[in-house]
Formats: sequence, structure tokens, C-alpha cells
Amino acid sequence: MTDEPTPRTPAFGTRAVHAGQAPDPTTGAIMPPIYQTSTYVQPELGRHLGYEYARVQNPTREALEGNLAALEGGRHGLAFASGLSAIEAVIKNLSAGDHVVSEENTYGGTNRMFNKVLSRLGIEFTFVDTRDPGEVRAAMRETTRLLHVETPTNPMMRLSDLGAMAGIAHEAGALLMVDNTFSTPYNQRPLEHGADIVVHSTTKYLNGHSDVIGGALVVNDDDLAEELHFVRKSTGAVPGPMDAWLVLRGTKTLHLRMKAHNENGLAVARYLAEHPAAQAVHYPGLPSHPQHELALRQMSGFTGMVSVELGSGERAKRFVDRTRLFALAESLGGVESIIGVPALMTHASVAPDRRAFMGVTDGLVRLSVGIEEIGDLLDDLEQALRGL
Ligand SMILES: *Cc1c(COP(=O)(O)O)cnc(C)c1O
Repeated sequence: MTDEPTPRTPAFGTRAVHAGQAPDPTTGAIMPPIYQTSTYVQPELGRHLGYEYARVQNPTREALEGNLAALEGGRHGLAFASGLSAIEAVIKNLSAGDHVVSEENTYGGTNRMFNKVLSRLGIEFTFVDTRDPGEVRAAMRETTRLLHVETPTNPMMRLSDLGAMAGIAHEAGALLMVDNTFSTPYNQRPLEHGADIVVHSTTKYLNGHSDVIGGALVVNDDDLAEELHFVRKSTGAVPGPMDAWLVLRGTKTLHLRMKAHNENGLAVARYLAEHPAAQAVHYPGLPSHPQHELALRQMSGFTGMVSVELGSGERAKRFVDRTRLFALAESLGGVESIIGVPALMTHASVAPDRRAFMGVTDGLVRLSVGIEEIGDLLDDLEQALRGL
């Protein structure tokens, strides 16, 4: 046995297609069945087949969890009913009096949940600019249990140095949670940089087809995984099997879709950066991004998310009302291109002074560049920007 070669970990694209899944043992079905059941019959009292009740175990969900864990390079995946419920489960593993340091420019819904719901339960939050490790270190307290970052942030595309964040968190005896929704594991794998918990809104790129709300956590530590499983089974934010199956279908093409999103995103960012109507373009893949060097160090691609400053709310409104291929909608990460004004849409729940402080102006437009033909996308932007 000693001269057996160590099996090589399959490459990302192979993991995307196969991880977590095996042909169904009873029929050979190549796709994991959608186990649309609430309970499982037990052969006799005190003995079951590993499945008791679907809030706790579901084979379709477990296939998805195995797949997501493999993509992030982690040991344990946990699927949730939404991205927010996945983040909430991590906070529910804390206690009243515990302190969380969070990036200030998080997804609007995360900010609202921290500020307006979870802070009422005695969890304390401090919001900082996590681009600056010094600011993060200064915010850590004796009671800090968690550092939460999102990189790149939504919609300003700010980056946090993952290695530095892990160092600061661990020095303070806290865990580092990274919202990897924007990057996806195709472009960035936070666990490899020392993060303890990766969170996803699978609603976005992982599912990729704009037809599911879902979330996930991936962790390496066995005890932490057990604690999070306990929180989830005790509070109940599980996805249904159909949604788990749809996300699993989505991740099979993640590597192909992200390659196209990365290419189209970069092309759109370059186009906008040259356009006279654009006052600023926020995209980590552009050399003009203030953290471009960090982007090259910890990311291998920069996704289809681009923000552009047009200078006024009126100009932003005219632009988004005139695009035809870019649909005016919330959300991101689907195969189709979407456009929106964060200040009035995704970030409307963030206090206006904090929005202004972060640069989320009424003139800022966010684009989720899809995988359509790039020529058609650029034509659409050109006609919408004409005479702005
Ligand atoms: C959408 C989103 C969330 C919330 O996810 P839901 O699935 O809508 O609950 C969290 N973080 C980021 C970065 C997001 O884009």
C-alpha cells in the first residue's frame, strides 16, 4: 500500500460537476433525486436509516452541501433557506453581550439584520472600514467573537486583505467570517487564506439562474460545524429539496459561467472607464482600482459586478430606464444582465448619511454583467448612455 500514489484532488471544474454526488444506489439515476419528503419511516423503534426528519437530514440537501464544501476547499457545507439566514445562524451561535466587528459596506440586508434585529437581542456590533487593518484591530474588544467581512463589497467593490483579517481575528480569539457571494469560490477561496467560515447567498452566482433564494456556510472545523448544525436544526432555516437541487444544478456550470462573467465584467468595466459620462468605475480588475494589487494577490478573476458613478440621481435614472438588455432589477449573479441603483434599491434600508459616507450616492449604478454576447451588451450600454 505504501507505494500507492496519493490521489490528486480533482480540479475545480471536475469538483463542480461531480462533488457531493454519486449515482442513486437503487436506480442508478445520475442526478441526485429530489427527496420531497418531510419524514422517514423507521424499520423499528430505536433504529433508523440515518434519516429521521427533514429539518435535520435530507439527502438532496446533503448532496449540495458536499458540492459546496468541495468548491470552497472546506470539510463541511451547510445549506440554508437564504443567504441572510446563513449569516444569522452564525450570529445565533453567539450569546448576548458578545461583540461582532463588521465591514461597514456590507450587503444592505446584512447591515439591516445586524443593526435593526440582532442588536436588539444583546449582540453588539461595530462597523468599520475593513480595507484598513489598523481600524479593524482597534475595534476588537475582549468580547469580540466574530469578524465579518465581505470582499469585494457591494456595491463599492472595496477589498479586505483576507490573510491580514484572519491574523487580526485569531489574535483576538475571534473567528473570521467571509461573505464570498460576490467572488464565488471560482475566483477566491477564503478558507485558504485563514478564514473560519465562508458564507454565500447561493441566490446569486452559485445558483446563477435567478430562480432560487438560498444560502450556505462552509467551514473546516468539525466542532464549529457541529455547533452550526445544532443552531440550524434548532431554528429551522433549511432550504427545500427542490431549491437545493436547483442550486446543485447551477454549480455544475459554475466554472464555465464565471469564466464568461469575468470576461464580460472586465470588458464592461474597461468600456465604462473610457466613457466620458462615467465619473468613476469601481472594478477590482482595473489597474485604476486603489486595491488592484491586493485583488491580483487573493483573487483569480473579478466577476461581472461593476459599479459606475454617473454624477446625479437624474442621470442614473435616465441610464437604467433606457437599457434594454440590462434589466432593471435587484439581485445579481444570474446568467442575464441586471442593472440597478443601490441607493434606491438594495441599499435603501441603509441610513442616508452612512450611504453618503461610503460613496453609495444616488448617481451610482450597479451592473451585474451576464453571459450574453459582449458586443450586444456594449451596444446596449452605448445607446443608453448616449446624450446622457
Ligand atoms: C444577496 C446577498 C445576501 C443575502 O442573501 P439572500 O439570499 O438574499 O438572503 C448576502 N450577502 C451578499 C453579498 C448578497 O449579495
